[in-house]
Amino acid sequence: MAGMLARDAELLWHPYSSLSDPSPVRMVRGASGVRLQLDDGDGGSVEAIDAMASWWCMIHGYRNPVLDAAVKSQVDDFSHVMFGGLTHEPAIRLAERLVEISPEPLRHVFFCDSGSVSVEVAIKLALQYQVARGNNGRTRMLTVRGGYHGDTFAPMSVCDPVNGMHSLFTGALKEQVFGPQPPAGFDRPDDDPEFLAWAASVSALAEQLAGEIAAIIVEPILQGAGGMYPYSPACLRLLRELADRHGFLLILDEIATGFGRTGTLFASEHAGIDPDILCAGKALTGGYLSLAATLCTTDVAHTVSNGPGGALMHGPTFMANPLACSAALASIDLLLSQDWAGRVAQISAGLSAGLAPAASLPGVKDVRVIGAVGVVQLGGPVDLPRMTEAALRRGVWVRPFRDLVYTMPPYVCTDEEIATIAAAITAAVEEAG
Ligand SMILES: *Cc1c(COP(=O)(O)O)cnc(C)c1O
Repeated sequence: MAGMLARDAELLWHPYSSLSDPSPVRMVRGASGVRLQLDDGDGGSVEAIDAMASWWCMIHGYRNPVLDAAVKSQVDDFSHVMFGGLTHEPAIRLAERLVEISPEPLRHVFFCDSGSVSVEVAIKLALQYQVARGNNGRTRMLTVRGGYHGDTFAPMSVCDPVNGMHSLFTGALKEQVFGPQPPAGFDRPDDDPEFLAWAASVSALAEQLAGEIAAIIVEPILQGAGGMYPYSPACLRLLRELADRHGFLLILDEIATGFGRTGTLFASEHAGIDPDILCAGKALTGGYLSLAATLCTTDVAHTVSNGPGGALMHGPTFMANPLACSAALASIDLLLSQDWAGRVAQISAGLSAGLAPAASLPGVKDVRVIGAVGVVQLGGPVDLPRMTEAALRRGVWVRPFRDLVYTMPPYVCTDEEIATIAAAITAAVEEAG
């Protein structure tokens, strides 16, 4: 196996990686339930609970019998067909299901193969919408600092400029409008001075640049890869108000927050507001296959369709891949057939209790939990190899970034497994933080 890892290091880019100075990677032998089987480097293997759910995706665990069966059965029918001029039942049924479970005004669905592309499509819809309304100067997105929306160029342009290293791409990246990051904390009241100051600042920016702005785009309630940072529903309500006042569309990127992760099926429900466009991905297929969806209102769909061009100008090769649609249908049905909200609340309580001792450790700046997401923020950058190793020795796989050690475990974790994750993170932070 050492030979394999050497070949990997020579050949393969990993996420945000260097080929000149590759970071260590571990070989996966298998995965089942909430556990990964990893090579231990000495010819044996170690088991670890996947505290990352493979980056928010694997909500029902690996080799889930229901999802396995759905994909296998679709393989026996057909694995892929082009979506131009053809359609199929898995796509139609999944679109119906998504419209049914998402915020009420969203009625139409565009399927593509990754979250980033679904954000491209959302932005394209917003731009085509404004052109169709005769607002040709409205070509910019308004967002807030600290966000993450994907790695292709349009999504990258609305990621946090510092975390997203916009300086590397000066001249190649659309210059968007950035408001300040919402003040931290889900529970912050809407008469709180920090909220009021933020609201005043974003409102002024929207007012000043209204003629240039096509849409507001944010991750609702929880900024994910930008910093695992929850903010209050009042902020979302203000953004909805600004969009209505100035004729912007509101795009909510629910790629990380969708399918129950923050305690409601979609995070916008915390605020009681509806977006004009919503992006879903990650847990959409229960982590089985790459699929994302951009949903929009009938106003957006028909305005774009009746505008110049007469069509939404996008059509990926693997659009609405039938295997992925079948996995997604099975995943959503499985989720809704259980008390998922109760499960997420239980995980939330387990993470709160289990991570609480980390708050008093030296070098820990903050501990926060929202829904089935637990975060320990350190005072400085994480020593990634040491932290990963320290957690792995305690049977838990984590992938910290910047100053954050965090978990968004599969929903099928038992209370004991949640306790193990929280204890391993706390101990790893104590040892390597
Ligand atoms: C992961 C993520 C994306 C990008 O999705 P990919 O499938 O990696 O392209 C976009 N937005 C948010 C909020 C995400 O968490």
